[in-house]
Amino acid sequence: MIFPSTVAGSLPKPAWLAEPNKLWPKWQLSGAELAQAKLDATLLAVKEQEDAGIDIVCDGEMSRQHFVHGFLEYVDGIDFSNKVEMGIRADRYKAMVPVVRGALSLKGRVHQAEARHAREHTKKQLKITLPGAMTIADTVADAHYGNRAKMALAFADLLNKEARALEADGVDVIQFDEPAFNVFMDEVPTWGVEALHRAIDGLTCKTAVHICYGYGIKANIDWKNALGDEWRQYEIFFPALAKSRIKQVSIEVIHSHVPMKLLALLEGKDVLAGVIDVANDKVETPEEVAAVIKDVMQVVPKEHIVACTNCGMAPMRRDIAEAKLRALGAGVKLAREKWG
Ligand code: ZN
Repeated sequence: MIFPSTVAGSLPKPAWLAEPNKLWPKWQLSGAELAQAKLDATLLAVKEQEDAGIDIVCDGEMSRQHFVHGFLEYVDGIDFSNKVEMGIRADRYKAMVPVVRGALSLKGRVHQAEARHAREHTKKQLKITLPGAMTIADTVADAHYGNRAKMALAFADLLNKEARALEADGVDVIQFDEPAFNVFMDEVPTWGVEALHRAIDGLTCKTAVHICYGYGIKANIDWKNALGDEWRQYEIFFPALAKSRIKQVSIEVIHSHVPMKLLALLEGKDVLAGVIDVANDKVETPEEVAAVIKDVMQVVPKEHIVACTNCGMAPMRRDIAEAKLRALGAGVKLAREKWG
């Protein structure tokens, strides 16, 4: 199929599950009720994507409070009771972060329940996302490993364990979210790719890495405004990714200042091109979506183009996110009619 569509990962949570429009929402339920509500919301997320015509559906990240901490909750060796303040993403935000105090290990399965539930309820290809090792290492304080790359590689081994289990659950695509690649560009070739390789070791399913400029929250919008007319961060590490064993790269395109020619540096990879803006509530038209696909076709062979959202939609209003999913589905349909 030409121009398959997918989402970067998260979708807004229903108000009965968690506080709406927040990046770190409080759950509205607890215990067994919360566990069931997460699965119910997963089913809704899958259904909404199917109805919008999305080809590779996600669980919508309904079961995690935050894309990094949803994973960390299942890791032993981390002290959550004495958080410390740390500047993350090179000081773009200050956050209270947990501290790594010992050797890391997984307590058990992280995303088994929602992955199996989604798998049971859809015949579409299923994607599950995990935080990338470099991004995790930039979101926790280290009082044990003494070296950020070394700690990231330890996290990569845990990610690999969960990723192998997700593959066995029937997941078709496993994606690692690495917004930190856009901040520590020089470290991607030196150890970021090595950490990715550790995380995908032994997988036979499709593997992806998502590298974005963040959710549409104020700190990110201010940062983007400070990056100038041409965003060239991707240029520094795309050559290393092109040589890597990762199969797909998810990036921002629509309304970004990334020069289109940089996408040519991803030769041989599937490019998950962002054709839906998540930092803006204005719903794209199918024509706008198709026009972005046409622009990407100038530098990426069309059999390597996957139409995607720029980033996750977790903090967005539900009705807007659903309208944007439909615009994505309709835009891809139009592009197939024109150039398929
Ligand atoms: Zn993102």
